[in-house]
Amino acid sequence: MSDIRNVIIIGSGPAGYTAALYTARADLKPLVIEGAESGGALMTTTDVENFPGFADGIMGPDLMDTMRKQAERFGAELLTDDVTKVELTGKVKTVWVGDTAYKAHAVILATGSAWRPIGIPGEQELLGHGVSSCATCDGFFFKGQHIAVVGGGDSAMEEATFLTKFAESVTIVHRRDSFRASKIMADRALSNPKIKVEWNTVVDKVVGDQKVTGLEVRDVTTGKTRTLDATGMFVAIGHDPRSALFADQVDTDDEGYVKVDSPSTRTNLAGVFAAGDLVDNTYRQAITASGTGCAAALDAERYVAALE
Ligand code: FAD
Repeated sequence: MSDIRNVIIIGSGPAGYTAALYTARADLKPLVIEGAESGGALMTTTDVENFPGFADGIMGPDLMDTMRKQAERFGAELLTDDVTKVELTGKVKTVWVGDTAYKAHAVILATGSAWRPIGIPGEQELLGHGVSSCATCDGFFFKGQHIAVVGGGDSAMEEATFLTKFAESVTIVHRRDSFRASKIMADRALSNPKIKVEWNTVVDKVVGDQKVTGLEVRDVTTGKTRTLDATGMFVAIGHDPRSALFADQVDTDDEGYVKVDSPSTRTNLAGVFAAGDLVDNTYRQAITASGTGCAAALDAERYVAALE
């Protein structure tokens, strides 16, 4: 039937656009439902120095714009909106954007992951008023200020190092006595004279009325509390996969990452494939997302071909 497409791709990060490029070149005329904001996580960063093919690095938004154009060039159809509902269990899949239903034989899920809040008083209330999850987006507003970064992984190191461009000082607040970050990232942060670390410390509350004026912190070894002088708090404690939309239909692990029949991208549902940070709790890189996006496209292509 002509109103049933070959493939719908949900998401427009490196995984979604790579899947789009491959399925478009295979003449499957994919529909990419990009999300209300296209381009995914790299739209919030500056230099990307580790995506192969760019000897001098490339800005995140430029990389995503290039991927988008490349997919479009081969006939991928792009819709910049959020998917609101899916029905993936039947032979023909239905994907809704509001009241509009789109049908396809195959669906590639590539919705990535989202930042994880700490869940303390003041965090949500002061989001955008001193609390942030994105150093690249908001660092500029903290020129000459004393700010904190919460976390101990690669993201926290990257955010803290980046923020020293603007801030007078950056305090990394970490609940343990060592970082989980890779050595190179941790060393870079620790050797930065503007960065200091509060080990074994958690933030209990963000203090402030209209904007952040301090952080109530607690030493987890002594239980002692005090107020840390900071006008900003960047939360960098991890990400959660964006699987809520389909977690009732597609198998996920304990953390919500979509399970695939590795090394393929097949989910538990025939004709449904998943790629990128949505399935990947380990590597979470643009190139690995692109890699699994490519694999999902090839898996979907073979699946559709076998239906004919
Ligand atoms: P994402 O890029 O997260 O894309 C997910 C997509 O799904 C988005 O387009 C979103 O709009 C869409 N979506 C979500 N919900 C819906 C919905 N309901 N309907 C439709 N669409 C939806 N990696 C590197 O390799 N090098 C780097 O230098 C680097 N720097 C980074 C810097 C920052 C600040 C961050 C946050 C990440 C960085 N990463 C870097 C990691 C990299 O960005 C991710 O690994 C990669 O973007 C994951 O790609 P993805 O396609 O799986 O998901």
